[in-house]
Amino acid sequence: MVCPPGAIVFSQDMEGKQTYHFNRAVCIYCGECVRACPKEGAIFQTAEPAPCALKAENINNGWNKLFDEALVSREAYAAEKKRKAAEKAAADKAAAAKKEEENKTGN
Ligand code: SF4
Repeated sequence: MVCPPGAIVFSQDMEGKQTYHFNRAVCIYCGECVRACPKEGAIFQTAEPAPCALKAENINNGWNKLFDEALVSREAYAAEKKRKAAEKAAADKAAAAKKEEENKTGN
């Protein structure tokens, strides 16, 4: 994980599309994300830190929920990807076995 305090987390839908979330109240303005980003200029660091989060924004509870949901979404995507790979491997194996059988019988 690039962000030392965990101010950035991404969730993933079942097609693998990633959505990044950022919590300004957790960010310590270390700049690691800016240095690590492979797309130059995609993110940058401002000179001014963001204002403190207001209690009414419920940023802590909301963030904890979002953070947990993001982890679950990534696990679900990984499990789905694994399931699809196993399904494809089984289909490929069945097709190869069928072809081999056809070659043996001459059909
Ligand atoms: S500057 Fe970037 S890496 Fe550092 S704490 Fe903030 S979001 Fe995380």
